[in-house]
Amino acid sequence: MGDGRRERVRRFDDLDARVVACRMCPRLVEWRERVGREKRAAYRDEEYWARPVPGFGDPFARVLVVGLAPAAHGGNRTGRIFTGDRSGDWLFTSLHRTGFANQPFSRSRDDGLRLDDMYVAAAVRCAPPDNKPTTAERDNCLPYLVEELDLLRELRVIVVLGGFAYATLARVVPLPRPRPRFGHGVEVPAAGGALTVICSYHPSQQNTFTGRLTEEMFDAVFRRARELTG
Ligand code: SF4
Repeated sequence: MGDGRRERVRRFDDLDARVVACRMCPRLVEWRERVGREKRAAYRDEEYWARPVPGFGDPFARVLVVGLAPAAHGGNRTGRIFTGDRSGDWLFTSLHRTGFANQPFSRSRDDGLRLDDMYVAAAVRCAPPDNKPTTAERDNCLPYLVEELDLLRELRVIVVLGGFAYATLARVVPLPRPRPRFGHGVEVPAAGGALTVICSYHPSQQNTFTGRLTEEMFDAVFRRARELTG
């Protein structure tokens, strides 16, 4: 491993360690730990992660995906973002079809998943009740996203999954004013044209079960991200 690569990995490791130890939002600390103690019946024999969930992927990625927050029995159980829930299945099968992931599933931290040219993070790193973080909780978590953006020097494209992620990103990356409305497939030039933000519906069951988001629509977002990175 070259010195530059080693240093980048070291800085991500340092960031991850600080994220995992974070207890800044009392409501979320209480919730994530309570879910971890009470568990869902199907997972009663598992030890839940029950801590903040750091980002995951290629430290030299040109494409960043920003989701909402870990799912109570998904990332909050497994300790890896979008891992162990249906939204994650949707995301990683699409990333596999479009060449960003080496396998079409994401079940546990040691399942062999590797991402190529892609990094995945959440706007808020602790599972919130009803998947609804407060504005204060979102703002508490923003510095971690800022650090990731700073570390991902090669970044060209940011895919935001849902309106919450889009609004969160708008607080840390300069977007045009007035800010274009969120909609699936909407592209927004950012940071003076250095970045492109692509909006996508979130692969929540609310969207995928109803057909609001189809596999074709989701794949098209990641194919476009690949086009934009040349
Ligand atoms: S949501 Fe973010 S800022 Fe709040 S406790 Fe979790 S990691 Fe810390």
